[in-house]
Amino acid sequence: MPDARAVAHSLSDTDHRVFWLDGIEAVAYEPLQGGTRGDLTIVGAGHTGLWAAVQAKRRDPSARVVLLESGLVGSGASVRNGGFAESSLGDHGDGRRRWPHEFEALERVGLENLCGLERDICDLGIDAEIEPTGILSVAYDADQVRRLKQAEHGFWYDADSIRSEIASPIFRAGRWRTDVCVLVNPGKLSTGLARAATELGVVIHEQSAVTGVDTQAGGAVRVRTASGHVDSQQVALCTNAFRPLLHRARYLRASANEYLMTTEPLTDEQLASVGWRNRQGLVDMDTHVHRARLTADNRILCAAMHLPQRRFGYSFAPEPFTSLASSFMATFPQLEGVRFSHRWAGAIDTLNQSFAFNGLAHSRSVAHADGFAGRGVAGSRLVAGIMLKHLYGQTTPTRRGSVAG
Ligand SMILES: Cc1cc2nc3c(=O)[nH]c(=O)nc-3n(C[C@H](O)[C@H](O)[C@H](O)COP(=O)(O)OP(=O)(O)OC[C@H]3O[C@@H](n4cnc5c(N)ncnc54)[C@H](O)[C@@H]3O)c2cc1C
Repeated sequence: MPDARAVAHSLSDTDHRVFWLDGIEAVAYEPLQGGTRGDLTIVGAGHTGLWAAVQAKRRDPSARVVLLESGLVGSGASVRNGGFAESSLGDHGDGRRRWPHEFEALERVGLENLCGLERDICDLGIDAEIEPTGILSVAYDADQVRRLKQAEHGFWYDADSIRSEIASPIFRAGRWRTDVCVLVNPGKLSTGLARAATELGVVIHEQSAVTGVDTQAGGAVRVRTASGHVDSQQVALCTNAFRPLLHRARYLRASANEYLMTTEPLTDEQLASVGWRNRQGLVDMDTHVHRARLTADNRILCAAMHLPQRRFGYSFAPEPFTSLASSFMATFPQLEGVRFSHRWAGAIDTLNQSFAFNGLAHSRSVAHADGFAGRGVAGSRLVAGIMLKHLYGQTTPTRRGSVAG
């Protein structure tokens, strides 16, 4: 175990703020005032709502798309995450056993979505600091080594070769899949998507918390805020781990918290002492999922998930940060003395099936998506496309019958 004083020193000057928001120039969007009409109303301006907005305008540039956000663009999980854009659509370590018939198709769709994500980010001119590094799973004990060895895909590392790839005394084996993950800067992705959406003609209102969704006489759906409403034929609810607007979705969820920290930028010598020349996203096989990666300016970002959390909120206990700093120092003892610059946390929307889930309500006029289980950076693009397909597929199949994803 690392020395407690060294751990305390590493946290002694850490800011409680999200690293990804540093240097981002926020664009302010006016709150909704009064009543208006739209073709599609989207609730929630995280990755899911923003992808839905962009995709809706790409399908039909004449559609009036209104996006309502209770806080600021990307104030939820979408700017708090680790930036691991994975092809996996949920926490499906045991997916092959749980969905034996669908598993191959889910893997294929997830990989296609990841390619589509990279393509869209490029086409939309978003500088999201993409690094196509793949993901390296590491094992700490004999059982994890055995399980990792059984995996079918990727480059295998034994104890010696994993330590020459990334110098950690606690790594005993590893497996690197290059095709299943790209790293992104999620703050730049969120603000870039908002910019792209508004350029396509989407109307965004921040500080506009939706308080209710009702079907009106004539079939339009009214989405209400404290200071106005939007009537539209279709609604997409993209509120993730926040309080669901549909009663049915309240029974589906169990939130967890993920805690993240970044170090100061490493010097060239510090980085050389770790290796990590291929800059992979790193994930362990422990029960408390740990992830780590390098940022564009060579900080190490490390993260740990804690289950379960009974209530959603943004006041987080200090202990997980201390335990994360301790794990970090056990993993990279050669970095003793390096301090953490930022720490933050966020709520993960997890369903009991640990897999993203789409549904329809209000006579199929309202679509909702839930339960990314910490895999929504890429998955949100796919799920947004599925929401639009559900909404539009039935109403105007000839004009809007095909959809991304
Ligand atoms: C700490 C953390 C680390 C993570 N790390 C990763 C990772 O590395 N890789 C990965 O793939 N996934 C990760 N995830 C998950 C990923 O971030 C999410 O799955 C993804 O961002 C979901 O996007 P979203 O748009 O659905 O939700 P959010 O980004 O949470 O957006 C929902 C939005 O809805 C708004 N809202 C809520 N209620 C209302 C209302 N009533 N009216 C109006 N607006 C409302 C909120 O303000 C919020 O902006 C992580 C999540 C967290 C919290």
